[in-house]
Amino acid sequence: MVHGKKRGSGRSYDSLSGHCSMIGTETGKVLGFSVRSKYCKMCDEATRKGVQAKTHDCRMNWDGSAKAMEQDMVVEMVQSIKSKGSNVGTIIADDDTTTIARLRKSVDPNIKKMSDKNHVKKNIANALYQLKAKHKKLTPKVIKYLINCLNYMLCQNQDNPKGVENGLEAVGRHPFGDHSFCDKSWCSHKENASKKYSSLPFGKPLKDIPLQTDLTDLMKVYKKQSQKLSKLGSTQGNESFNKSVASKAPKSHFYSGTSSLNVRVAASVAQKNDGQCYLIKVNNNIGLSPGVHTKRLAILRDLQARKRRAISITRKEKIRRIQLRNRRVKRNAVKEMCEGTSYSCQIDLQDHQDIVEIPSAPVPPEVHCNIPNTAKVICFDLETTSL
Ligand SMILES: [Zn+2]
Ligand SMILES: [Zn+2]
Repeated sequence: MVHGKKRGSGRSYDSLSGHCSMIGTETGKVLGFSVRSKYCKMCDEATRKGVQAKTHDCRMNWDGSAKAMEQDMVVEMVQSIKSKGSNVGTIIADDDTTTIARLRKSVDPNIKKMSDKNHVKKNIANALYQLKAKHKKLTPKVIKYLINCLNYMLCQNQDNPKGVENGLEAVGRHPFGDHSFCDKSWCSHKENASKKYSSLPFGKPLKDIPLQTDLTDLMKVYKKQSQKLSKLGSTQGNESFNKSVASKAPKSHFYSGTSSLNVRVAASVAQKNDGQCYLIKVNNNIGLSPGVHTKRLAILRDLQARKRRAISITRKEKIRRIQLRNRRVKRNAVKEMCEGTSYSCQIDLQDHQDIVEIPSAPVPPEVHCNIPNTAKVICFDLETTSL
Protein backbone atom coordinates (compact mmCIF):
# COMPACT_ATOMS: atom_id res chain seq x y z
CA MET A 1 0.00 0.00 0.00
CA VAL A 2 1.26 3.45 -0.77
CA HIS A 3 0.37 7.06 -0.32
CA GLY A 4 0.77 9.69 -2.97
CA LYS A 5 1.10 13.33 -2.12
CA LYS A 6 2.33 16.42 -3.81
CA ARG A 7 3.61 19.53 -2.24
CA GLY A 8 3.40 22.61 -4.36
CA SER A 9 4.43 25.97 -3.03
CA GLY A 10 1.34 26.65 -0.96
CA ARG A 11 -2.14 26.87 -2.36
CA SER A 12 -1.18 28.91 -5.38
CA TYR A 13 -1.25 26.62 -8.34
CA ASP A 14 1.38 28.43 -10.37
CA SER A 15 4.36 27.00 -8.48
CA LEU A 16 7.49 26.31 -10.50
CA SER A 17 8.18 22.97 -8.88
CA GLY A 18 6.57 20.18 -6.93
CA HIS A 19 7.57 16.95 -5.30
CA CYS A 20 5.75 13.76 -4.53
CA SER A 21 6.48 10.93 -2.14
CA MET A 22 5.22 7.39 -1.90
CA ILE A 23 5.32 5.82 1.55
CA GLY A 24 4.56 2.21 2.46
CA THR A 25 1.93 1.85 5.19
CA GLU A 26 3.58 -1.17 6.79
CA THR A 27 7.15 0.10 6.95
CA GLY A 28 6.65 3.86 6.97
CA LYS A 29 9.58 4.12 4.56
CA VAL A 30 9.69 6.17 1.39
CA LEU A 31 9.36 3.76 -1.55
CA GLY A 32 9.62 6.34 -4.26
CA PHE A 33 9.83 10.06 -4.80
CA SER A 34 9.78 12.38 -7.73
CA VAL A 35 10.41 16.06 -8.45
CA ARG A 36 8.97 18.16 -11.25
CA SER A 37 10.53 21.46 -12.17
CA LYS A 38 9.27 24.00 -14.70
CA TYR A 39 12.24 26.32 -14.63
CA CYS A 40 16.02 26.13 -15.06
CA LYS A 41 18.19 29.10 -14.30
CA MET A 42 20.91 28.27 -16.84
CA CYS A 43 18.49 27.51 -19.68
CA ASP A 44 16.52 30.67 -18.92
CA GLU A 45 19.62 32.84 -18.95
CA ALA A 46 20.83 31.35 -22.24
CA THR A 47 17.44 31.93 -23.87
CA ARG A 48 17.43 35.52 -22.68
CA LYS A 49 20.86 36.17 -24.16
CA GLY A 50 19.99 34.25 -27.32
CA VAL A 51 22.90 31.85 -26.97
CA GLN A 52 23.31 28.10 -26.58
CA ALA A 53 23.34 27.04 -22.92
CA LYS A 54 26.53 25.50 -21.54
CA THR A 55 26.35 21.85 -20.61
CA HIS A 56 24.79 21.68 -17.18
CA ASP A 57 22.90 19.40 -14.82
CA CYS A 58 19.51 20.43 -16.18
CA ARG A 59 16.57 19.38 -14.01
CA MET A 60 13.78 21.03 -16.01
CA ASN A 61 11.34 18.23 -16.77
CA TRP A 62 7.87 19.73 -16.87
CA ASP A 63 6.10 22.25 -19.02
CA GLY A 64 2.49 21.40 -18.19
CA SER A 65 0.44 23.16 -15.54
CA ALA A 66 1.35 22.87 -11.86
CA LYS A 67 -1.97 21.14 -11.13
CA ALA A 68 -1.12 18.21 -13.40
CA MET A 69 2.28 17.62 -11.78
CA GLU A 70 1.04 15.36 -9.00
CA GLN A 71 -0.77 12.97 -11.31
CA ASP A 72 2.23 12.67 -13.59
CA MET A 73 4.58 11.98 -10.69
CA VAL A 74 2.27 9.36 -9.12
CA VAL A 75 1.94 7.56 -12.47
CA GLU A 76 5.72 7.61 -12.86
CA MET A 77 6.36 6.25 -9.36
CA VAL A 78 3.80 3.45 -9.60
CA GLN A 79 5.16 2.53 -13.02
CA SER A 80 8.72 2.45 -11.73
CA ILE A 81 7.74 0.14 -8.85
CA LYS A 82 5.95 -2.11 -11.31
CA SER A 83 9.01 -2.27 -13.57
CA LYS A 84 11.04 -3.45 -10.57
CA GLY A 85 8.73 -6.43 -10.19
CA SER A 86 6.48 -5.30 -7.33
CA ASN A 87 2.83 -4.36 -7.58
CA VAL A 88 1.02 -1.44 -6.03
CA GLY A 89 -2.39 -2.65 -4.87
CA THR A 90 -3.90 0.40 -3.19
CA ILE A 91 -3.04 4.05 -3.04
CA ILE A 92 -4.14 6.43 -0.31
CA ALA A 93 -4.62 10.03 -1.40
CA ASP A 94 -6.95 12.96 -0.87
CA ASP A 95 -10.11 13.27 -2.95
CA ASP A 96 -9.09 16.42 -4.77
CA THR A 97 -7.46 14.95 -7.86
CA THR A 98 -8.15 12.66 -10.79
CA THR A 99 -4.92 10.76 -10.14
CA ILE A 100 -6.58 7.41 -9.63
CA ALA A 101 -8.45 7.55 -12.96
CA ARG A 102 -5.18 8.25 -14.75
CA LEU A 103 -3.40 5.46 -12.88
CA ARG A 104 -6.10 2.98 -13.85
CA LYS A 105 -5.88 4.09 -17.47
CA SER A 106 -2.13 4.06 -17.92
CA VAL A 107 -0.69 1.60 -15.38
CA ASP A 108 -3.06 -0.85 -13.77
CA PRO A 109 -6.87 -0.95 -14.21
CA ASN A 110 -7.28 -2.87 -10.92
CA ILE A 111 -5.51 -0.45 -8.63
CA LYS A 112 -7.59 0.52 -5.58
CA LYS A 113 -7.93 3.87 -3.92
CA MET A 114 -8.47 4.76 -0.26
CA SER A 115 -9.41 8.22 0.97
CA ASP A 116 -7.22 9.99 3.47
CA LYS A 117 -8.70 10.00 6.96
CA ASN A 118 -7.71 13.55 7.83
CA HIS A 119 -9.03 15.05 4.61
CA VAL A 120 -12.38 13.33 5.09
CA LYS A 121 -12.60 14.56 8.69
CA LYS A 122 -11.69 18.08 7.68
CA ASN A 123 -14.39 18.11 4.99
CA ILE A 124 -17.03 16.93 7.46
CA ALA A 125 -15.94 19.59 9.97
CA ASN A 126 -16.15 22.29 7.29
CA ALA A 127 -19.68 21.20 6.38
CA LEU A 128 -20.70 21.43 10.05
CA TYR A 129 -19.19 24.90 10.45
CA GLN A 130 -21.16 26.00 7.39
CA LEU A 131 -24.37 24.90 9.12
CA LYS A 132 -23.38 27.03 12.09
CA ALA A 133 -24.22 30.24 10.19
CA LYS A 134 -27.84 29.09 9.94
CA HIS A 135 -28.31 27.55 13.38
CA LYS A 136 -27.62 29.44 16.56
CA LYS A 137 -27.76 26.35 18.74
CA LEU A 138 -24.87 24.79 16.82
CA THR A 139 -22.14 26.22 19.04
CA PRO A 140 -18.47 25.26 18.68
CA LYS A 141 -18.93 22.97 21.67
CA VAL A 142 -21.73 21.08 19.94
CA ILE A 143 -19.77 20.93 16.68
CA LYS A 144 -16.79 19.48 18.52
CA TYR A 145 -19.04 16.90 20.12
CA LEU A 146 -20.50 15.90 16.73
CA ILE A 147 -17.04 15.67 15.15
CA ASN A 148 -15.88 13.45 18.02
CA CYS A 149 -18.92 11.22 17.57
CA LEU A 150 -18.21 10.92 13.84
CA ASN A 151 -14.52 10.20 14.44
CA TYR A 152 -15.25 7.40 16.92
CA MET A 153 -17.93 6.02 14.62
CA LEU A 154 -15.60 5.96 11.59
CA CYS A 155 -12.79 4.34 13.61
CA GLN A 156 -15.05 1.60 14.95
CA ASN A 157 -16.63 0.80 11.61
CA GLN A 158 -13.68 0.34 9.30
CA ASP A 159 -14.38 -2.48 6.80
CA ASN A 160 -18.05 -2.29 7.74
CA PRO A 161 -20.04 -0.06 5.34
CA LYS A 162 -23.37 -1.12 6.90
CA GLY A 163 -22.03 -0.02 10.28
CA VAL A 164 -21.04 3.37 8.84
CA GLU A 165 -24.55 3.87 7.43
CA ASN A 166 -26.11 2.95 10.75
CA GLY A 167 -23.62 5.13 12.61
CA LEU A 168 -24.34 8.17 10.42
CA GLU A 169 -28.04 7.72 11.12
CA ALA A 170 -27.29 7.52 14.84
CA VAL A 171 -25.17 10.70 14.77
CA GLY A 172 -28.21 12.53 13.38
CA ARG A 173 -30.45 11.22 16.19
CA HIS A 174 -28.46 10.43 19.33
CA PRO A 175 -27.67 14.09 20.24
CA PHE A 176 -31.40 14.82 19.99
CA GLY A 177 -32.39 12.09 22.43
CA ASP A 178 -33.52 9.52 19.86
CA HIS A 179 -31.54 6.34 20.51
CA SER A 180 -33.30 4.02 18.03
CA PHE A 181 -30.10 3.62 15.97
CA CYS A 182 -27.69 3.56 18.90
CA ASP A 183 -25.87 0.50 20.10
CA LYS A 184 -25.53 -0.58 23.72
CA SER A 185 -21.76 -0.87 23.30
CA TRP A 186 -21.30 2.89 23.07
CA CYS A 187 -24.59 4.55 24.05
CA SER A 188 -25.35 4.32 27.76
CA HIS A 189 -28.59 6.25 27.25
CA LYS A 190 -30.12 3.08 25.86
CA GLU A 191 -30.29 1.55 29.32
CA ASN A 192 -30.55 4.72 31.32
CA ALA A 193 -32.68 7.20 29.37
CA SER A 194 -32.32 10.00 31.92
CA LYS A 195 -28.50 9.96 31.85
CA LYS A 196 -26.86 13.33 31.27
CA TYR A 197 -24.98 14.18 28.08
CA SER A 198 -21.59 15.09 29.47
CA SER A 199 -20.51 17.01 26.34
CA LEU A 200 -23.69 18.90 25.44
CA PRO A 201 -24.80 22.23 26.97
CA PHE A 202 -26.60 21.73 30.31
CA GLY A 203 -26.20 17.97 29.88
CA LYS A 204 -29.45 17.88 27.92
CA PRO A 205 -30.20 16.59 24.41
CA LEU A 206 -30.55 19.17 21.64
CA LYS A 207 -34.11 20.22 20.79
CA ASP A 208 -33.69 22.28 17.62
CA ILE A 209 -35.82 20.48 15.00
CA PRO A 210 -34.63 22.50 11.93
CA LEU A 211 -31.06 21.75 13.01
CA GLN A 212 -31.83 18.06 13.23
CA THR A 213 -33.36 18.10 9.75
CA ASP A 214 -30.28 19.79 8.28
CA LEU A 215 -27.94 17.47 10.13
CA THR A 216 -29.79 14.35 8.93
CA ASP A 217 -29.68 15.73 5.38
CA LEU A 218 -25.94 16.19 5.68
CA MET A 219 -25.51 12.67 7.01
CA LYS A 220 -27.56 11.36 4.08
CA VAL A 221 -24.98 12.83 1.70
CA TYR A 222 -22.21 10.93 3.51
CA LYS A 223 -24.32 7.77 3.68
CA LYS A 224 -23.98 7.43 -0.08
CA GLN A 225 -20.20 7.33 0.44
CA SER A 226 -20.37 4.59 3.07
CA GLN A 227 -18.16 2.24 1.02
CA LYS A 228 -15.47 4.87 0.86
CA LEU A 229 -15.85 5.92 4.50
CA SER A 230 -15.44 2.34 5.69
CA LYS A 231 -12.01 2.13 4.06
CA LEU A 232 -9.93 5.06 5.19
CA GLY A 233 -6.17 5.34 5.12
CA SER A 234 -3.78 7.96 6.34
CA THR A 235 -1.26 10.16 4.53
CA GLN A 236 0.19 11.42 7.80
CA GLY A 237 3.58 9.95 6.91
CA ASN A 238 3.66 12.08 3.79
CA GLU A 239 2.73 15.17 5.74
CA SER A 240 5.62 14.59 8.12
CA PHE A 241 7.92 13.97 5.15
CA ASN A 242 6.76 17.25 3.60
CA LYS A 243 7.64 19.03 6.83
CA SER A 244 11.13 17.61 6.65
CA VAL A 245 11.43 18.81 3.03
CA ALA A 246 10.19 22.25 4.09
CA SER A 247 12.98 22.46 6.65
CA LYS A 248 15.61 21.58 4.05
CA ALA A 249 14.11 23.66 1.24
CA PRO A 250 12.19 26.54 2.88
CA LYS A 251 9.59 28.14 0.65
CA SER A 252 10.99 31.59 1.33
CA HIS A 253 14.12 30.59 -0.58
CA PHE A 254 14.16 29.79 -4.26
CA TYR A 255 15.68 26.42 -5.05
CA SER A 256 13.61 25.46 -8.10
CA GLY A 257 16.07 26.87 -10.64
CA THR A 258 18.86 24.33 -10.12
CA SER A 259 19.41 20.73 -9.05
CA SER A 260 19.50 22.03 -5.46
CA LEU A 261 15.83 21.21 -4.93
CA ASN A 262 16.25 17.63 -6.15
CA VAL A 263 19.20 17.10 -3.81
CA ARG A 264 17.31 18.60 -0.87
CA VAL A 265 14.27 16.37 -1.45
CA ALA A 266 16.56 13.36 -1.82
CA ALA A 267 18.24 14.24 1.49
CA SER A 268 14.83 14.32 3.17
CA VAL A 269 14.08 10.86 1.77
CA ALA A 270 17.37 9.54 3.15
CA GLN A 271 16.61 11.09 6.52
CA LYS A 272 13.12 9.60 6.63
CA ASN A 273 14.34 6.11 5.73
CA ASP A 274 17.65 5.96 7.59
CA GLY A 275 17.38 8.63 10.27
CA GLN A 276 19.93 11.39 10.83
CA CYS A 277 22.72 8.83 10.45
CA TYR A 278 22.27 9.12 6.68
CA LEU A 279 24.84 11.93 6.87
CA ILE A 280 27.54 9.51 7.99
CA LYS A 281 26.70 7.16 5.11
CA VAL A 282 26.89 10.04 2.62
CA ASN A 283 30.28 11.05 4.01
CA ASN A 284 31.59 7.49 3.75
CA ASN A 285 30.28 7.19 0.24
CA ILE A 286 32.10 10.22 -1.07
CA GLY A 287 35.31 9.25 0.70
CA LEU A 288 35.15 11.67 3.60
CA SER A 289 35.65 10.58 7.17
CA PRO A 290 32.60 11.72 9.14
CA GLY A 291 33.39 14.20 11.89
CA VAL A 292 33.19 13.07 15.50
CA HIS A 293 30.61 15.71 16.35
CA THR A 294 28.47 14.91 13.30
CA LYS A 295 28.44 11.27 14.28
CA ARG A 296 27.63 11.93 17.91
CA LEU A 297 24.87 14.41 17.09
CA ALA A 298 23.31 12.14 14.45
CA ILE A 299 23.12 9.22 16.89
CA LEU A 300 21.72 11.46 19.63
CA ARG A 301 19.06 12.92 17.32
CA ASP A 302 17.97 9.45 16.18
CA LEU A 303 17.67 8.32 19.78
CA GLN A 304 15.63 11.37 20.68
CA ALA A 305 13.34 10.85 17.69
CA ARG A 306 12.77 7.19 18.61
CA LYS A 307 11.98 8.10 22.20
CA ARG A 308 9.59 10.86 21.19
CA ARG A 309 7.78 8.53 18.81
CA ALA A 310 7.45 5.80 21.45
CA ILE A 311 6.02 8.24 24.00
CA SER A 312 3.68 10.02 21.59
CA ILE A 313 1.66 6.89 20.77
CA THR A 314 0.87 5.99 24.38
CA ARG A 315 -2.68 6.51 25.64
CA LYS A 316 -1.49 8.74 28.46
CA GLU A 317 0.30 11.09 26.10
CA LYS A 318 -2.67 11.26 23.72
CA ILE A 319 -4.97 12.24 26.58
CA ARG A 320 -2.45 14.86 27.72
CA ARG A 321 -2.35 16.37 24.23
CA ILE A 322 -6.14 16.62 24.09
CA GLN A 323 -6.24 18.23 27.55
CA LEU A 324 -3.56 20.75 26.62
CA ARG A 325 -5.38 21.70 23.43
CA ASN A 326 -8.72 22.08 25.26
CA ARG A 327 -7.15 24.25 27.92
CA ARG A 328 -5.52 26.47 25.30
CA VAL A 329 -8.76 26.88 23.34
CA LYS A 330 -10.71 27.68 26.50
CA ARG A 331 -8.20 30.21 27.79
CA ASN A 332 -8.03 31.87 24.40
CA ALA A 333 -11.83 32.12 24.13
CA VAL A 334 -12.07 33.80 27.56
CA LYS A 335 -9.30 36.24 26.69
CA GLU A 336 -10.86 37.11 23.33
CA MET A 337 -14.20 37.73 25.01
CA CYS A 338 -12.59 40.19 27.45
CA GLU A 339 -10.43 41.99 24.92
CA GLY A 340 -13.23 42.88 22.50
CA THR A 341 -12.75 42.54 18.73
CA SER A 342 -9.12 43.09 17.82
CA TYR A 343 -8.79 41.26 14.54
CA SER A 344 -11.48 40.66 11.94
CA CYS A 345 -11.82 40.89 8.17
CA GLN A 346 -11.97 44.58 7.12
CA ILE A 347 -12.80 45.70 10.65
CA ASP A 348 -11.03 49.01 10.15
CA LEU A 349 -13.67 50.03 7.59
CA GLN A 350 -16.49 49.77 10.13
CA ASP A 351 -17.72 52.89 11.94
CA HIS A 352 -18.08 51.36 15.36
CA GLN A 353 -15.21 49.39 16.79
CA ASP A 354 -15.52 47.75 20.17
CA ILE A 355 -12.15 48.25 21.80
CA VAL A 356 -13.26 48.54 25.43
CA GLU A 357 -11.62 45.83 27.47
CA ILE A 358 -13.69 44.03 30.08
CA PRO A 359 -11.71 44.15 33.32
CA SER A 360 -11.06 40.88 35.06
CA ALA A 361 -13.32 40.08 38.00
CA PRO A 362 -12.35 41.92 41.21
CA VAL A 363 -11.11 39.77 44.04
CA PRO A 364 -13.63 39.98 46.93
CA PRO A 365 -12.09 41.41 50.11
CA GLU A 366 -11.60 38.86 52.83
CA VAL A 367 -13.49 40.32 55.77
CA HIS A 368 -14.62 38.29 58.66
CA CYS A 369 -18.39 38.80 58.75
CA ASN A 370 -18.96 37.40 62.24
CA ILE A 371 -21.72 35.00 61.29
CA PRO A 372 -23.02 33.43 64.49
CA ASN A 373 -23.05 29.65 64.65
CA THR A 374 -26.75 29.69 65.33
CA ALA A 375 -27.58 31.34 62.00
CA LYS A 376 -29.83 29.36 59.66
CA VAL A 377 -28.45 28.31 56.28
CA ILE A 378 -30.54 29.26 53.26
CA CYS A 379 -29.70 27.84 49.84
CA PHE A 380 -30.64 29.59 46.65
CA ASP A 381 -30.04 28.79 43.02
CA LEU A 382 -29.68 31.11 40.06
CA GLU A 383 -30.91 29.74 36.76
CA THR A 384 -29.58 31.55 33.69
CA THR A 385 -31.18 31.26 30.28
CA SER A 386 -29.19 30.38 27.20
CA LEU A 387 -29.90 33.80 25.64
ZN1 LIG B 1 18.69 23.75 -17.91
ZN1 LIG C 1 -27.82 7.11 21.87
